[in-house]
Amino acid sequence: MPATPAYAAPSPRAPLAPLTIERRDPREREVAIDILYCGVCHSDIHQARDEWGRGIFPMVPGHEIVGRVAAAGAAASKFAVGDIVGVGCFVDSCRECPQCRAGEEQYCDQGMTATYNSRERDTGAPTYGGYSTRIVVDEAYVLRVPEGIPLERAAPLLCAGITTYSPLRHFGVQPGDAVAVVGLGGLGHMAVKLARAMGAEVTVLSTSQAKRDDALALGANDFLSTREDGVFEANARRFDFIVDTVSAPHDYNAYLGLLKVDGTMVLLGIPDAPTPVGAFPLVSKRRRLAGSMIGGIRETQEMLDFCAAHGVAADVEVIGISAINEAYKRMLAGDVRYRFVIDIASLREG
Ligand code: NAP
Ligand code: ZN
Ligand code: ZN
Repeated sequence: MPATPAYAAPSPRAPLAPLTIERRDPREREVAIDILYCGVCHSDIHQARDEWGRGIFPMVPGHEIVGRVAAAGAAASKFAVGDIVGVGCFVDSCRECPQCRAGEEQYCDQGMTATYNSRERDTGAPTYGGYSTRIVVDEAYVLRVPEGIPLERAAPLLCAGITTYSPLRHFGVQPGDAVAVVGLGGLGHMAVKLARAMGAEVTVLSTSQAKRDDALALGANDFLSTREDGVFEANARRFDFIVDTVSAPHDYNAYLGLLKVDGTMVLLGIPDAPTPVGAFPLVSKRRRLAGSMIGGIRETQEMLDFCAAHGVAADVEVIGISAINEAYKRMLAGDVRYRFVIDIASLREG
């Protein structure tokens, strides 16, 4: 049981601090991965602050993991020592329900086993995430990181990338479609890049006027400041598809009015409080309001390969682990350009 340096939230809302955890040697079909980089997702903050409830503490967050295989179990055949691999938001599922069989393990009938803040299906032990130097995962839930993407820029693809790729594909966004991305943070900036790579016309809707130039540099065709008077009226019925990545409660009804007839708004952000939705904005234009959660293993691999083929990667600010609490504060203030990624070497040295 090798001792493994990690960073953890000891209790809800407490600052993260060093913690030593144990990682087992890989079992039959498991691989032990030396973690190189781990992205910082707003879901880490929601859970470390216990905003979604039922958190397991101490909590080691992190589900945007890239690393190198350090050891493999006797029956592991998908990966070998030295391979560069990724781990996303879940590390197991029931493997038998219709969703698991369809490769949509994130919607497992029995609930996926999350990479952290969850319990292993067999041992019941808490799962610990990527703010640590090593993780041990069944190889069926491990991704191959294609060559050509800098590793620190690949890490955020494991959550922010797949979470935005999957609904764009599922809801059939086509070249030329008018797509709006609400909220320009980690998910939002990936949605801009991916929707553009799929040929859509992309508009960013942001509360931060200062992000205009960045949005255009990321590839957006247009930018709207949602704090400006009249912006919702002036852009009524403009979009085929809206990707909502906002992490805090906000009025969905206002954004629904921006959809064309038959348009779809998909919620990706998971604020800690519900927001009322009126029937009128939906009924009056046969609009749809949907949600989507990450993506399955097969689709995550497809997304990674798509990113390598299209030169898509996250824009990151690499930090040492000791800067994590400051990074959380900046994300809560909307000040992220556009994903913090922890260089896990800083945890080994510490
Ligand atoms: P992030 O990097 O912190 O970005 C969130 C963005 O939302 C901010 O940059 C800001 O953009 C906007 N925003 C924040 N507060 C707002 C407010 N009060 N009103 C309007 N806009 C506001 O977060 P993230 O990592 O992209 O995650 C976003 C959300 O998605 C979180 O709730 C997270 O838990 C969730 N998530 C869901 C899934 C899934 O599978 N569905 C996966 C990962 C994350 P502007 O400055 O541009 O307004
Ligand atoms: Zn995430
Ligand atoms: Zn299942």
